[in-house]
Amino acid sequence: MNTKIQIKDRFFTPYISRDEIAAAVGRIASKMNQDLAGKNPLFLCVLNGAFVFAADLFREMTIDSEISFIRMKSYEGMHSTGEVKQIYGLQQDITGRTVVVVEDIVDTGFTIQQLLQQLNSHNPKEIKVATLLFKPDSLKCDVKPDYVALEIPPAFIVGYGLDYDEQGRNLKDIYVVSE
Ligand code: IMP
Repeated sequence: MNTKIQIKDRFFTPYISRDEIAAAVGRIASKMNQDLAGKNPLFLCVLNGAFVFAADLFREMTIDSEISFIRMKSYEGMHSTGEVKQIYGLQQDITGRTVVVVEDIVDTGFTIQQLLQQLNSHNPKEIKVATLLFKPDSLKCDVKPDYVALEIPPAFIVGYGLDYDEQGRNLKDIYVVSE
């Protein structure tokens, strides 16, 4: 694996290799193939960060399944506190369906919490959350992802779809910021 890299003003060191990522994605995919068989789940990839993970995860699915893409955008609302995010790009009717939200990372959990609230208002049959990374020690909401590829401590990471100021998404391995 490569050594230290620089992105803009910060340095990052190798953290999780492409082989470890592939093994972890394979593990949750096997579980999902068992759990979701016969349900024709609709995967909803949350752009931008989850696109690499979603592509790899979806290609491991051996059951009938569909995929589509959404985005969570912040908007200037009447709320003075906290960031409010809204779903954009939901094309499908998810009423009565099994939905799998595919996220890059659950950090504080606020994004996924707001996403789940909004998706639930469309009356799906059930919603599962699959995330590449989970920082349990950063969690500030009452949400629990159903499928977690890798748990990590609260450090800032880039690569495999995740960015630092829009850079670094193309890295094949995951890197952690070095002090
Ligand atoms: P949350 O709402 O705090 O759970 O954060 C969700 C979003 O913050 C993720 O979907 C990422 O886009 C971004 N994020 C959180 N932690 C990191 C990180 O370590 N690296 C890159 N992006 C992150």
